[in-house]
Amino acid sequence: MKARRPLIAGNWKMNGFAVAGTHLAGALVGRAAEDPDIAADIVVCPPATLLAPVGEMLRGTIIALGGQDCHPEPSGAHTGDIAAEMLADLACDFVIVGHSERRADHGETDAVVRSKAEAAARAGLIAIICVGETEAQRDSGEALEVVRAQVRGSVPDGATAESVVLAYEPVWAIGTGKVAQPSDVAEMHAAIRQEIRGLIPDADALRILYGGSVKPDNAAQLLALEDVDGALVGGASLKADDFWAIAKTCG
Ligand code: PEP
Repeated sequence: MKARRPLIAGNWKMNGFAVAGTHLAGALVGRAAEDPDIAADIVVCPPATLLAPVGEMLRGTIIALGGQDCHPEPSGAHTGDIAAEMLADLACDFVIVGHSERRADHGETDAVVRSKAEAAARAGLIAIICVGETEAQRDSGEALEVVRAQVRGSVPDGATAESVVLAYEPVWAIGTGKVAQPSDVAEMHAAIRQEIRGLIPDADALRILYGGSVKPDNAAQLLALEDVDGALVGGASLKADDFWAIAKTCG
């Protein structure tokens, strides 16, 4: 068994109406009841519209609740945004920040991501900070340096392995069915671990997740890699059986 307890996080993205979303949550609650000793921490991050009803269903189970984004400020004139404190108020324990879809769709820079991670810490949430290179950056041999720079720019001062989780998600592998080679994932996770040693005091305890087309049939190989401490799962988190099968590969 690994020294760091794995974290399996489901990112539902902008999917799930009330009926389907609560049905999925119900199915996960059922799996969790059958598997109370599963060897991983589990969190699901539904769209904001479903945080309250899904959170209600997850209460008292082994599955934690997370948001998909938060605003840096605790309140104010920010129409459409959600404060980290509001997520905490709905019993969230986690929030994803800096997902590549937000970096691309909303122009989020490392500085913005960092301010969101700071907001998460202020609200008592664990920030899942996402980093990852584009296909062009990998093809030109820049992947390691791009991701190391994202880590340096996105992890706030004062962060610890208790307050943040990193997620390495090669942009070209998200939602595409293309999975990074295990040797490339191992190299990147080791580089992230090395980078984080200069930034936080307890780097060896920090969990570094892999994300990008993780499915039941490739999860075991990826999760067995030394510095891979869990997975951030998009598409497969929308199917209870698949999501649970991925979590079960942790034992
Ligand atoms: C994600 O949304 O973070 C993700 C990794 O998506 P997918 O698993 O669908 O590639």
